[in-house]
Amino acid sequence: MTRPIKATIDLAALRHNHGVARRHAGARRIWSVIKANAYGHGLLRVAQGLAGSADGFALIELEGAIALRQAGFRQPILLLEGCYAADELPLFAEHLLTPTIHSLEQVLMLQAATLSRPLPIYLKLNSGMNRLGLNADQVQPALSALAASKQVAGVTLMTHYADADSERGIAAQLASFEAMRAGLAERHPASPANSAALLAFPEHGGDWVRPGIMLYGASPFPEMHSAAALGLKPVMTLESELIAVREIAPGERVGYGGMFVAGRAMRIGVVACGYADGYPRAAPTGTPVQVCGRPTRTLGRVSMDKLCVDLTGIAEAGVGAKVLLWGGDGQTGLSADLVAGAAGTVSYELFCALASRVPVTER
Ligand SMILES: *Cc1c(COP(=O)(O)O)cnc(C)c1O
Repeated sequence: MTRPIKATIDLAALRHNHGVARRHAGARRIWSVIKANAYGHGLLRVAQGLAGSADGFALIELEGAIALRQAGFRQPILLLEGCYAADELPLFAEHLLTPTIHSLEQVLMLQAATLSRPLPIYLKLNSGMNRLGLNADQVQPALSALAASKQVAGVTLMTHYADADSERGIAAQLASFEAMRAGLAERHPASPANSAALLAFPEHGGDWVRPGIMLYGASPFPEMHSAAALGLKPVMTLESELIAVREIAPGERVGYGGMFVAGRAMRIGVVACGYADGYPRAAPTGTPVQVCGRPTRTLGRVSMDKLCVDLTGIAEAGVGAKVLLWGGDGQTGLSADLVAGAAGTVSYELFCALASRVPVTER
């Protein structure tokens, strides 16, 4: 017997969600963002799943980008943080990768590198998030220096929205980005939008969009719009089984710290899934879960390998009963956004945290 926890990746749902991105993107082209092992879904699996429809792939990890090339992917590949040292840049040229240049230090690295061919680059502008990107006064000098270096073959301007998922929106950053673009000697293509901007702000601008989370079927702003309402289908399903069932008396406590105290006699189940599988330890009593397809709640603290669930009203649930942690069918399933919300985090973090000990299959 193997431990019953497993994750399933639904590639048809992935392609469906890419189609939703395509509809929103219109004539714009789409970088499918597959950083962090495709948000925990498997880099090559997701790239393969999207191979027929992706205009390009965007990620953070240079090793991942090279692995995509070695696996035969020929689409453009964008590295969202670019390089960390000048000696990586020849690999960009060798494998035809597009670096982001987000700082003057990276401009210097590019000037210093010896490349087998000039590189297309994404020049990142700081439009107000104050994380990565050049400020307005640095952009034209950087462009001039890059042009003089003869190491660059085409510049796209990008920025990243800090509030596309909130009431604040994108107006101020879009205006700042467009003002910076307008001040330049040449007009360059642009790429400002992530999932939230693509879905919520049709005016987000640009020629290439960069959806990530929506491809995986979760909402970038679950408090405003559920994934289902956005027409997205869950891609990752995390399931396990009950490995023990017990009756507890009123006043008995459950799990580390006894964080749940039974107010009445009740039946509880123990699920083979804990934080070492990627389930969030912060999930408190009451986090939604399904047993035998019936909605119920977690009880007490999540431990490394186990969590406890309330079996009240689920008389048929014995050892071996199926437990859905998140995912499943969009209609009858359990949204990762709801689990994440209960745990005080976002679906992104749940997906990325899926542990390597959880076996993953595709369907
Ligand atoms: C991760 C990332 C994205 C994708 O963001 P989502 O919210 O997942 O759509 C887009 N652009 C950049 C620069 C990123 O780092």
